[in-house]
Amino acid sequence: MSRDDTDAIHGHEYFDPLGANIPPIYLNSMFEQRVEAKKSDRGVDLKYSREENPTVRALERVISKLHISEDSLCFSSGMAAISTLYMWGLKSGDEVLTTIEAYGSTIKLAEELGKLGIRVKKAYPSAEAISSAIGPNTRLILFEAMTNPTLKVIDVRAVVEAGRAKGALVVVDNTFLSPVLYKPIKDGADLVVESTTKYISGHNDQVGGLLAGPSRSILELWEWRRLLGNIMSPFNAYMTYRGLKTIGIRMKRHEENALKVAKYLKERREVVEVLYPGLPDDEHHELASKQFSGYGGVVSFKIKGGRAEVEAFLKALKMIMPSPSLGGTESIITYPVVSASSSINENDRKAVGITENLLRLSVGLEDPDDIIADIERGFKALKS
Ligand code: PLP
Repeated sequence: MSRDDTDAIHGHEYFDPLGANIPPIYLNSMFEQRVEAKKSDRGVDLKYSREENPTVRALERVISKLHISEDSLCFSSGMAAISTLYMWGLKSGDEVLTTIEAYGSTIKLAEELGKLGIRVKKAYPSAEAISSAIGPNTRLILFEAMTNPTLKVIDVRAVVEAGRAKGALVVVDNTFLSPVLYKPIKDGADLVVESTTKYISGHNDQVGGLLAGPSRSILELWEWRRLLGNIMSPFNAYMTYRGLKTIGIRMKRHEENALKVAKYLKERREVVEVLYPGLPDDEHHELASKQFSGYGGVVSFKIKGGRAEVEAFLKALKMIMPSPSLGGTESIITYPVVSASSSINENDRKAVGITENLLRLSVGLEDPDDIIADIERGFKALKS
């Protein structure tokens, strides 16, 4: 049990005039404004739902508590949060430093900013490589605390120290962990970004994103969200909050299942490598154990062979859906080279180990024996 379990349920601090027990869905597009608009609790106008909305605000209060941040914002997707971050934090002549392994669109969008005079630099995903890549024009450093899809763990405190020394903002993408397993602000990160599509909403039925951090930055980002028009919708906020209430117990079960699956995969002759920081012999186990309070529910693994074997394996699955995304109740398997990592160039993929035989499994909340039975179906389809 932890305080997070209570905050996830009661942290909305919404008090309904009619006594409704949970924050309702405010689907209205506007609020009455005679002369002065009403203010929301963070002091901004509450007049138009593209800017501020009580259902979205209730979710943001829960997220702020879970991330021990002064404030937070919810967006229509994780990429909406990331694009708003770039618009806010970068100007012509600045450099954004990210990693050669990250969610493909995070890297691609940074590269697209070249047309606005913003340079992108990409480092190997390790604290040492990121820190030594920081240059005089590096304004923003964005990296994943646990990388997608090979699950490398990056020492956040070390990057924060290096970033601070050079005056760069350090932003951590915490999507693979959720605030239940890691709160980057504790380690000095300036901001946290997450795709709420994943563990935060947790049921594979929502798309959304968040940014959390100090009030001053969040208020400036709020203005950008207002201008860009990419706030999370009230309905999505309601559904996301509904999912978020159970995040504590979900994360525990995801992890229990993931560990069972990882151990099973380790024993299979069809598997050449298992990547899961929860395994004691994993390269990142020590840092993950120190930095996080759990290892999450994603297990990546490499099977013997290449694309043809992956295709046969995926075709044979009955329960686990081959699809992008992760972090929900249903187990999902992703083939990174054709999906989340498809926009990463071949050299970079090779350098971080995103190979043709790599699969990323988001272990869901089903009975782990059923998950393993389905994986076994996949193995049976491979020629021995
Ligand atoms: N960050 C990470 C680590 C992701 O895995 C993803 C999506 O898979 C995103 C950001 C983007 O989030 P969304 O798909 O909600 O836009």
